[in-house]
Amino acid sequence: MAETKPHIIVGGGIIGLSIGWRLLREGVEHVEIFESGEAGRSSAAWVAAGMLSPRAEAGFEDMDVYEDGVRSLELYPRFLEELCEDVGDRVPRLERTGTLVCAVNADQSRELDRQFDFRKRAGIPTQKLSGDEAREREPLLSTKVTSALWLEADAQINNRKLLLALREAFHVRGGILREGTTVSDVIIRDNKAKAVQFGDEEEEAATITIAAGAWSSKIGGLHAAIPVRPVRGQMLGLRMTPHSTLQQPVRTTNVYIVPKDDGRLLVGATAEEVSFDQRVIAGPIMELLHRAWELVPAIYELEIEEILASFRPATRDHRAIVGPSEYENLFYATGHWRHGILEAPLAADTLTRIILEHTEEVMIE
Ligand SMILES: Cc1cc2nc3c(=O)[nH]c(=O)nc-3n(C[C@H](O)[C@H](O)[C@H](O)COP(=O)(O)OP(=O)(O)OC[C@H]3O[C@@H](n4cnc5c(N)ncnc54)[C@H](O)[C@@H]3O)c2cc1C
Repeated sequence: MAETKPHIIVGGGIIGLSIGWRLLREGVEHVEIFESGEAGRSSAAWVAAGMLSPRAEAGFEDMDVYEDGVRSLELYPRFLEELCEDVGDRVPRLERTGTLVCAVNADQSRELDRQFDFRKRAGIPTQKLSGDEAREREPLLSTKVTSALWLEADAQINNRKLLLALREAFHVRGGILREGTTVSDVIIRDNKAKAVQFGDEEEEAATITIAAGAWSSKIGGLHAAIPVRPVRGQMLGLRMTPHSTLQQPVRTTNVYIVPKDDGRLLVGATAEEVSFDQRVIAGPIMELLHRAWELVPAIYELEIEEILASFRPATRDHRAIVGPSEYENLFYATGHWRHGILEAPLAADTLTRIILEHTEEVMIE
């Protein structure tokens, strides 16, 4: 007999919404997302820059993360096409803009040389440009830019539109969203996850997936906290004018500037180990603005529209935790660090497959 308990997801950010929607598309009938605030808007994914840039972000010690990122970017066109089938033109475009990583001083220039050699050795397609060649690609770059790396295969997306489209698609497919509801505990009996607890209430579940981003470690009822910690990112949103519209994301080793298709120009971001302190602080914001101004002087004139902070979910090795837990019926999809927007299609595919395989086993039993 078909089971009637819901598949519960804790967290309505980019990862929880992607998995919830994907489960419904695969024919799972009853999916509920519990979200402390408002699905999409309360998440780190709302504050994020929407860069899909595994090549620019590739690090010496993080090649697994790089490979996950490349795989997930390859999944993006199909992910968006399927989303389009459910919600039509509300789905944002995949913008294949590439990334320009620039040097504005001698130290950064040496660092870019090192980064170029590393990418060559690792087989990451990268082109080295002079300052003038970089300015041909992006005329608003400062004359201080002496060299750059051009990573043509990187992309970006309007992550806010994506979150709203996923939220809508989840509804269209019959998903139940329980907003304003914080899950405090997973209830475990005989090593099986049975229910979630919120306030004084409990709800039984067929499976439970923790997709609560940086807050995942706060979920109680487990032997040990999920090993994810918050890393605060502060970010500014400026408003572009017709004379200060950038063509693609540009960055140095310590700041990025990302033009969005709704006219915002994002300047980010700090990476601070301050637990869950969500304040925005003058000093780091001043530094971000100064670094961004050195790279693109035209930002000096732009209106500041918003200053935000949120928390990246960090793991020790920077790799996401996506898969079964030590408890039956409990799954994790968290720890996406700086790459949750990029890795959403991969997380959705991977965890949906695992849950479906698991559910079939349970139903056959
Ligand atoms: C400044 C900044 C810039 C970034 N830029 C990029 C970028 O350009 N590209 C990229 O790929 N990534 C970027 N990231 C990283 C990306 O935002 C995260 O990796 C991603 O948001 C993680 O997705 P998530 O769904 O796991 O968590 P979140 O997006 O944070 O969503 C988690 C959700 O769970 C809810 N929740 C938490 N606890 C509970 C609970 N107990 N019960 C119910 N609900 C709960 C929260 O309210 C939240 O809505 C950036 C992050 C920051 C902070």
